[in-house]
Amino acid sequence: MKTGFTPIRLEACVERHLEINPDADKKDFTRHLKNALSAYRKGVRCQCGNPIWVIGSALAGNMCFTCITGEATPDDDYEIDEAL
Ligand SMILES: [Zn+2]
Repeated sequence: MKTGFTPIRLEACVERHLEINPDADKKDFTRHLKNALSAYRKGVRCQCGNPIWVIGSALAGNMCFTCITGEATPDDDYEIDEAL
């Protein structure tokens, strides 16, 4: 169980990502997100053993929140609702 995240729908996450990163490729990011989500569903874990953070993994590869951000716990960070 992942705690501390704010749930967001996949479509909304893509919109938000494009607002923050206008040069991002919508198709690419959506594909990466879906790949990360399906990896999460298959039980893929971070190298440290924690469940992967789907949104971060879409950009950084399949890793958990802490390994991607260096922060211990999410604070107003988003995660796909289907992965919570
Ligand atoms: Zn990790």
